Amino acid sequence: MLSYGGKTRRAHRTMYELMHGRIRPNALHVCHSCDNRKCVNPNHLWLGTIQENLADMRRKGRGTKPPRTKPKARRNQVQTAVSIPALPR
Ligand SMILES: [Zn+2]
Repeated sequence: MLSYGGKTRRAHRTMYELMHGRIRPNALHVCHSCDNRKCVNPNHLWLGTIQENLADMRRKGRGTKPPRTKPKARRNQVQTAVSIPALPR
């Protein structure tokens, strides 16, 4: 997560917007070709619908397990807030 313009946003979505311009809120997902959800490399990000993202997951053999009902403890997770200037309007 990072914040700009007074709002906290997902880092990969913000990176995509910095490179390609604003995305209509909630209209499309910013998906990862590298399958690393923490990655913000703009060359690994593509814009797609939830159906396209799910199809990409199935094509790569991911998402075949049922979702966990109880999240595991994330002991090693580090959250870092980064502030960058707002996009020009
Ligand atoms: Zn990546």
